[in-house]
Amino acid sequence: MDRRTFLTGLAAFPIAMQLKELASISQRFAPTPRMPVLFLGHGSPMNAIEENVFVQGFRSIGGELPRPNAVLCISAHWETRGTQVTAMAMPRTIHDFGGFPQELFDVQYPAPGSPELAEATRELLAPSPVDLDQSWGLDHGAWSVIKHLYPDADVPVVQLSLDRGLDGRQHYALGRQLAPLRERGVLIVGSGNMVHNLGLVAWDHLQEVHAFDWAAEARERMNRSILEGDHATLQDYHVQGKAFQLAIPTPEHFLPLLYALALQEKDETPMLFNDLPVAGSLTMTSVLVR
Ligand code: ZN
Repeated sequence: MDRRTFLTGLAAFPIAMQLKELASISQRFAPTPRMPVLFLGHGSPMNAIEENVFVQGFRSIGGELPRPNAVLCISAHWETRGTQVTAMAMPRTIHDFGGFPQELFDVQYPAPGSPELAEATRELLAPSPVDLDQSWGLDHGAWSVIKHLYPDADVPVVQLSLDRGLDGRQHYALGRQLAPLRERGVLIVGSGNMVHNLGLVAWDHLQEVHAFDWAAEARERMNRSILEGDHATLQDYHVQGKAFQLAIPTPEHFLPLLYALALQEKDETPMLFNDLPVAGSLTMTSVLVR
């Protein structure tokens, strides 16, 4: 389905558009089979242009998924005061990093936005206030991985920010409210890294599969919690001891995982992929929920 077809589908509900106070997700979007949910370990921005096992993993998962009407991405790289959602028709490609080759700065990912999905997201998260944003766009947490799922940039992408004022449980609860989008053809993608400590990166093992002891322990415990459905431990990541503290020195790369897990239904089983540690203090572990 291209953007025009998607928008034509939305326009088929003129009553909802006229009676804005009655607008709801069910009136804006036609029902679809339940879409899977992803958490993607994005790692280095260079994954946007390099060919490696992680990129192959993203591409392979992308090929397995039903084609979505739109993507809603919760990226580690957009933290705000309060929650915001990108609402512009054509989001810009943001190169929010430094010290990389020009080739990476030259990448454009011109996927359209979806003001309709932004509005539906805002309604679903009520009564939590959500601001419709017109200035952000797509940061590298979004485009560096989504470009491997949809290389033609022909699926609309909307970003939802991470409110700095919320704790793990509150982020999880907010994520849960997005569940109806799955039944309307929206692919929800959390993008971060579960183990992410840039201050402790082993620069001499930068491109290698390598984990410090604490990173290996955190990876194993996080993976077990995901596979056993122990979401409480993950929501309370800040009280899980030394290995978790080192793995999550700041929460922004971990929190997108909570959005993905919050959307897991009782009849679904999470599957791990790209489950490798790199550079000692990072993991690329990604999750498919369906
Ligand atoms: Zn990142």
